[in-house]
This record gives sequence, structure tokens and C-alpha cells, in this order.
Amino acid sequence: MMSHQRVSGTHSQDIPRRESLLEWPFHEWPALLGLSASEKYRVRQLMEWIFHRRVADFGQMSTLPQGLRQSLGEKFTLRVLEFASREISKRDGAQRLNFRAADGKSIPAVCLSGKEEGGERHSLCLSTQVGCAWGCAFCASGRLKFQRNLTVSEILGQVFGAEEATGKKVDSLLFMGMGEPLANYSNLRLALHALRSPMGFNYGARHVTVSTSGLVPQMLKLCTEAPKMNLAVSLHAADDETRRRLMPKAAEWPIKEVLKAAWAYQKGAGGGRVTFEYVLLRGINDSLRAAQRLSNLLRGRKAWVNLIPYNPVPGLPYEKPEEVAVRRFEEVLVTRGIFVRLRRPQGDDISSGCGQLGNPAR
Ligand code: SF4
Repeated sequence: MMSHQRVSGTHSQDIPRRESLLEWPFHEWPALLGLSASEKYRVRQLMEWIFHRRVADFGQMSTLPQGLRQSLGEKFTLRVLEFASREISKRDGAQRLNFRAADGKSIPAVCLSGKEEGGERHSLCLSTQVGCAWGCAFCASGRLKFQRNLTVSEILGQVFGAEEATGKKVDSLLFMGMGEPLANYSNLRLALHALRSPMGFNYGARHVTVSTSGLVPQMLKLCTEAPKMNLAVSLHAADDETRRRLMPKAAEWPIKEVLKAAWAYQKGAGGGRVTFEYVLLRGINDSLRAAQRLSNLLRGRKAWVNLIPYNPVPGLPYEKPEEVAVRRFEEVLVTRGIFVRLRRPQGDDISSGCGQLGNPAR
């Protein structure tokens, strides 16, 4: 273990002996590498190899001096995840990728492809924790015991790993995999800086979306501490009582407070777009009354809603909504000026649809 002081206090103790360089924020790299002021340009060269050329072996970084390559290789590593297995949806081509961490934990990520202007685009749905402590009643991940937070390099490693496994460039990132991203706040924040930085992965604000079940204190911190991106707030109910049944832990913050934090994020200095996620469950939250309530909450705001017809999870009592209920719900929101996107399930036949990632790989 190096004597260097970490910024984040929530790292796992499971990082391999040669630690990942990606655990540290970029501004600390010159000191970590022991570079003098006149040698700082070496950090740029190193980043070029890591993030633009996607080279994982320090020995191959031919623009760096031999001595630096050797000492980097002795102290650090760049890949901490091993690709374990893959399943491909016959229905829509979504790929569930299962990675193995150094401590043997399984980390799922899902690669989704779609056609857009300019050709095929690939999104990656990333995990931030092993298991999840938030226990949302309809979610497979919520049934798994929380085990640990992912480290910064494990979060970033899913991007490298997905590109290596699929041979495709990941165009956009969705933090909607296993775990509550904002419950792993410190590591998520560092990972976001690396993902958004022009010296790092260089993803644009519109191409990074972080979801949350509505952790108000962390949402407020994001306003000033994280780079601009999209925030997806999981509401799933239009009244506190229903929300408490579906999301008992997240409902600690009333809907009113969650919305206040969401508007603060949208308005804040670096604030990006806020969308609201709403999983439609038959007979639970898909009524006309629920649609009217939701539209009253969001009316007059610049609000986007993703309506997600439920993907059944074996062993859970919830059902897909009827098509007529989905259409009625959508219509109520649209007629009241709310932007709605109906998200049809992708990858649900391989346990990779929304809320299914906690199911074991088949
Ligand atoms: S919906 Fe998200 S926060 Fe809730 S249990 Fe599932 S993974 Fe955790």
C-alpha cells in the first residue's frame, strides 16, 4: 500500500496489491508519479495512452521514458476487472456483460445498441455497488444483500471492459445498473470527473446519466461538486404513501423534497437535464388518478418523464401494466405539457431490463 493520502474515504479494501492509478484524481497524478514541474507534460502523454488509445499496458506507452514506464508498471495497474461471461438478447441484441472483480464479486453491465442519426450508437448501463441496500420492492438488485461499493477503477473498468468485450465504442453511459449510485457518492464523483474530463474519457454532458432513487443530500451536493450531466430521478409514485410501499428507504425523503432537490440541480451552476423515471406496475401506480397526480407535481416545469412498463422479476408479486393503462397514463402527461418517453424493455429476456440486473446471469 502506498503512503499517499487518498481523497475518498469509501474505498473497498479489496483493491489488488498493485493499485489502479485510476483510483486517484487527475490533479494528484504528477505527485504520484514523482514528476517535477518541467515534466508535468508526461501526465498528458500518459492520459493520451490510457483514455484515447485505450492501452492498458504501461510497457507499450512508447512516448514515455523507459524508467517511468517501469516504475508505473511496478506500482500500478489499469485494469481491475476480468471479463467473465456474456449473454446476448435474441430479441434486441442487448448484451449483458458479467465482470469479475479481484475479490471474486460479480459485476454486471449491459450494453444497449440503437440506431440514431449518424449510425448505430451504443450505451452502457453501469453498476456502482455489489447488491443494493435500498430494497425497492419491485427490483431484483434490491433483494440482494448489499455487499460493498465499487471502487473508482471498478466503475471506470466497466467502460474499458465493455469496449474490449464488444469491440464497440461506448457512446453514452447510464448509471442505472446494480446499486444506488449516490450511495457510493465519493467514488461516483471521482469516476464522473474522469469520464467527463477532456483529458479523460471526454464524454459530453448529454452522454452521461446518473440515476438515483432520490437521495436528497447527495443530489444537492451534486449541484456544486460534480460535472454537468443528466440526472434521472426515480419517482415511481405520485404520492408518498405509494412511494413508501415501493421504495421504503428512499421514501425517507418526501416527494416534495426530492422534487425541490431535482429543480435545484436543474437550475444550479453546472446543472443538466433532469428526467423522472416511473416504472408502471399493474394496479399499483398506473391509474388515471396517479397520472393526474404526477402531472400536477410536474406541471409548469421543464420536466421529462421516462415511463417504463414493468419487467417482471421471478418471485416478486408485481405485473406488467395493461397496454391501455400505459397509453392512458402517457396521454394524461402529454396533454399537460410534460415530455414523455415510453421506454420499451431491452434485454428483459436475459435479466438485463430495468430492475432485473440483480438476477443471476443465466
Ligand atoms: S431500484 Fe435501484 S436503488 Fe432501488 S433497490 Fe434497485 S438498484 Fe437499489
